[in-house]
Amino acid sequence: MSFWKEKKLAELTDEQWESLCDGCGKCCLNKLIDDETEELYYTNAACQLLDRQNCQCTHYGTRFIHVPQCTKVTADNISELTWLPESCAYKRLNEGRDLPSWHPLITGSDDAMHAAGMSVQGKVVCESSVRDIEDHIVLWPLKDMD
Ligand code: SF4
Ligand code: SF4
Repeated sequence: MSFWKEKKLAELTDEQWESLCDGCGKCCLNKLIDDETEELYYTNAACQLLDRQNCQCTHYGTRFIHVPQCTKVTADNISELTWLPESCAYKRLNEGRDLPSWHPLITGSDDAMHAAGMSVQGKVVCESSVRDIEDHIVLWPLKDMD
């Protein structure tokens, strides 16, 4: 049963909601907004709590204690979170799209996502090691597939 096709986002159980997250880690990258154009830029500087190998938050249950500015994605705020990557499962479903072919719920594991380059695996540094954040602007988080 593809529950995400049968229910609206607001109707999902907590377990279903959490399972929709692909674990790409792209939302955990620092982002910059141009003051004049308001254009959004992704960087390869990851939150200090992100495990840069498996792309998971190392303190997910207590993350707001460690990183108060971390954002909880919900059915209520998903439309306002315009900074989420185009590939984000929540963003895609909220826009009436389906999950991508590489999504863990489709393939049964994270492997296809990592292999397709749709996660941050192997491409990021810890924010604590960054001197000039503008030197870390990257385009690959903008990539989306099917
Ligand atoms: S971008 Fe979306 S799908 Fe990917 S880890 Fe963040 S919340 Fe989950
Ligand atoms: S606290 Fe965890 S979920 Fe929040 S941005 Fe950092 S790594 Fe991501």
